[in-house]
Amino acid sequence: MSVKINENYLLLQNSYLFIEIARRIDEFQKNNPEVDIIRMGIGDVTKPLTPTVLTAFKKAVVEMGDEKTFMGYGPEQGYPFLIKTIIKNDFEPLGVNLELDEVFISDGSKCDTGNIQEIFDLNNKIAVTDPVYPVYVDTNVMAGRTGHIKDNGMYEGLVYLPCIQENDFVPELPKEKVDIIYLCFPNNPTGTTLNKEQLTKFVEYAKENESIILFDAAYEKFITEDDVPHSIYEIDGAKEVAIEFRSFSKTAGFTGTRCAYTIVPKELKAVDSYGNLQSVNELWNRRQTTKFNGVSYPVQKAAEATFTEEGKKEIMDNIEYYMNNSKIIRESLANIGLNVYGGVNSPYIWVKTPNDMDSWDFFDLLLNEANVVGTPGAGFGSSGEGYLRLTAFNSLENTKEAMKRISELSF
Ligand code: PLP
Repeated sequence: MSVKINENYLLLQNSYLFIEIARRIDEFQKNNPEVDIIRMGIGDVTKPLTPTVLTAFKKAVVEMGDEKTFMGYGPEQGYPFLIKTIIKNDFEPLGVNLELDEVFISDGSKCDTGNIQEIFDLNNKIAVTDPVYPVYVDTNVMAGRTGHIKDNGMYEGLVYLPCIQENDFVPELPKEKVDIIYLCFPNNPTGTTLNKEQLTKFVEYAKENESIILFDAAYEKFITEDDVPHSIYEIDGAKEVAIEFRSFSKTAGFTGTRCAYTIVPKELKAVDSYGNLQSVNELWNRRQTTKFNGVSYPVQKAAEATFTEEGKKEIMDNIEYYMNNSKIIRESLANIGLNVYGGVNSPYIWVKTPNDMDSWDFFDLLLNEANVVGTPGAGFGSSGEGYLRLTAFNSLENTKEAMKRISELSF
């Protein structure tokens, strides 16, 4: 064999987290077959597509089976009907004006946040918050931007911005100059947010340092507090320095249906090696039209239906259902003296382990003693050590039962 692999893949840390969780659950269940385990670690929604969305979805599927209404390849960037609806509903109310060709519909924010790095040079210095949604790190590892992983689980070439109890989960600005900063707010996994003032500091940093912010707003619809920005473009001048990612996955139960979108403003520029400014919007357009053939018509019709009056009400009802779970989790755990974060503007609750237990020990304790599964924080980065993530996506009944079981434990 003479074909060589992309050796950067060998630098990836094994995706040990969810495999190890599954292994420990299996082992426990094998030894305790009668026990009913409640999974509070899942990052997937449990409520199905809402009636209005489903009706639009089905109608569009029927159109696909009729010669008169059949749709073949659509625009790679998405259908204008959906783009217009997104701009009108998600940005105009915030005072943010966007042109149609600044919005790119895709089949997921995972792909977009993962793919975006390939339009930027390999020598760019990258900063990520720690703990972090692993896609940002791993796609930069695959591209060859990070170098090796050190003993502490951090890559030598990345800049980490810790988000921990001590700084209220608000990352400090990078001490050195970085080129690209990944921010995700409301955050997965910590569930915490930045207020307008805190996010403004990042936009100002990016302007001063000529950096670009990759802003993942996948959980935007879960925001309940007034001073939390829904879009980075609510901050003056952010269009010159930021790309924003949004998804229908958690908002409208599209995790299995797949639809998301990315905003790349025309004001956003990056330089080539001659120092000439190039349009990032044009580069992303080139990338998408080359490698992507668009989201299916029925899925885009289903996504459009989330913005109808009925659709909006239905998806907000589901979000409120999850956020009620979130409140139950926060309050139950606080009542037994645990320090809990997040969960107010997001479906994630970030629990500080009691008595300085490490993440995995706390995971095991909850599994063995309460038969409840969380996600050990250490799996999201070294600053996640000493925390555990719970999610609000289970049913109300299971959430209550899980909290009852945990509340009966003594730490
Ligand atoms: N971004 C963040 C922060 C996420 O937590 C997730 C999913 O868990 C995604 C993106 C992926 O979204 P999508 O389903 O649109 O690919």
